[in-house]
Amino acid sequence: MSDKRYVIALDQGTTSSRAVLVDHDAHMVDFVQRPFTQIYPKPGWVEHNPQEILFSQLGSLTELLARHNLSERDIAAIGIDNQRETTIVWDPATGQPIANAIVWQCRRTADLVERLCGDPAVASRVRAKTGLLPDAYFSASKVRWLLDNIPGARQRAEAGELLFGTVDTYLIWVLTGGLVHATDPTNASRTMLYNIHEGVWDEELLDLFGVPACMMPEVRPSSGSFGETSYPGIPAGIPIAGVAGDQQASLFGQCCFEPGQAKNTYGTGCFLLMHTGTQAVDSANQLVTTIAASAPDQRDTEYALEGSVFVGGAVMQWIRDELGLIRTAAESESLAAEVPDTGGVYVVPAFTGLGAPWWNADARGTICGITRGTNRSHLVRAALESIAYQVFDLVKAMEADAGRPMDVLNVDGGASANNLLMQFQADILDRTLHRPLNIETTALGAAYLAGLAQGFWSGTDELSAMRSSDDVFAPHMDRERARELVDGWANAVRRTIA
Ligand code: ADP
Repeated sequence: MSDKRYVIALDQGTTSSRAVLVDHDAHMVDFVQRPFTQIYPKPGWVEHNPQEILFSQLGSLTELLARHNLSERDIAAIGIDNQRETTIVWDPATGQPIANAIVWQCRRTADLVERLCGDPAVASRVRAKTGLLPDAYFSASKVRWLLDNIPGARQRAEAGELLFGTVDTYLIWVLTGGLVHATDPTNASRTMLYNIHEGVWDEELLDLFGVPACMMPEVRPSSGSFGETSYPGIPAGIPIAGVAGDQQASLFGQCCFEPGQAKNTYGTGCFLLMHTGTQAVDSANQLVTTIAASAPDQRDTEYALEGSVFVGGAVMQWIRDELGLIRTAAESESLAAEVPDTGGVYVVPAFTGLGAPWWNADARGTICGITRGTNRSHLVRAALESIAYQVFDLVKAMEADAGRPMDVLNVDGGASANNLLMQFQADILDRTLHRPLNIETTALGAAYLAGLAQGFWSGTDELSAMRSSDDVFAPHMDRERARELVDGWANAVRRTIA
């Protein structure tokens, strides 16, 4: 295979769409990014205009192709990674969505989910089949809402006149000129309508949420065939060959292909995923069980455990914007380094409650351990460390569920650039952290899935071998000291909950 060809990842995120050019050495050669509008019709509601998503995505793709003077011959494949759960319903006869997309963050269906899944017996059936805790976050109740609230929608859906899709599905459908209505198992596993053990849309769940089966996309392997481009203005005949939801794409992009391999993304929030092989591990700590993206030679479904921290890098935004202690998030590193520790100060950023493994929606943030000697550096350091402590709690919960330790934690996301944070994370976890040179692991994962399906790369061994120049953070801290610090955090969390 000539190394002058490329794979393009369409990295469809919550606030922007990007087209990313990846070469045979897995280098990100260039990207074009286009933001789109966040629509907030009411408190707690979040929407996107599907056509604006589409045009931002197509615009970034055509600009990237033009900038590098590329034609269909130069592109081995397109991969798609996308914001998960966000729900679109459209009319295939016209291509028109019947309403704006309901975004994963949107809370409009919280009461509906409570009504449909409030009975603990129902909740536990949903959980057993989907691996998810019933919540408005997932697509099921969002489709229901659209069918119940857009005039005529239910009738048209039942007559087979409307299609459902997450954003990947909508993009595939448009890009293939309406020929392919499909998604992949990672996206399907976030709808709360997919039986992750049997690999089918679940009739009982479709009934529960009142979603006609004829609206549902075909589920195809994440690395395989999703048709070819056939859309005006886009070079024709490029295979769409890889699809995964953003977090699973990033797990794949981090080359976590084996059980026990894990990644954490330090963004606004944090997303921790651990590969559990072909075993769907049930969580005793209210983590979710989800489907991992698989290489084309993998026949059995592979799974991951997933947990998230609500306030990750966002705590630095608060320190910057609300307290004004720093001018940029990056400045937190030098300021925190001015002191050897926080002097016993803990910040617990439970701005919207505490997630796994504490699960307390009513908790609110605290700062404790302040003395007359506490200064700006101590506070900033405590805020930074709070990100690491929350990830520590998640890792421990996940290791307990999986019944095995993580050997290495692979890291990415904006805040993983902070070396002090990474070293502190390694120290309290007593685990080695690997930070790849290219922290754009989400786009890389989509590119890998597409490239593998087209033989652009030979297999996962080749991908792992290309991942050589990581920054490594090995634990150095005295174990006794680490235990004291973690005990102090657990104590601060107890006070927060009290
Ligand atoms: P997202 O994809 O969730 O929008 P990013 O991966 O771009 O987020 O990461 C941005 C987040 O990381 C912000 O919340 C920001 O405060 C935080 N952040 C960025 N750089 C640093 C840094 N050097 N140290 C600490 N936090 C940082």
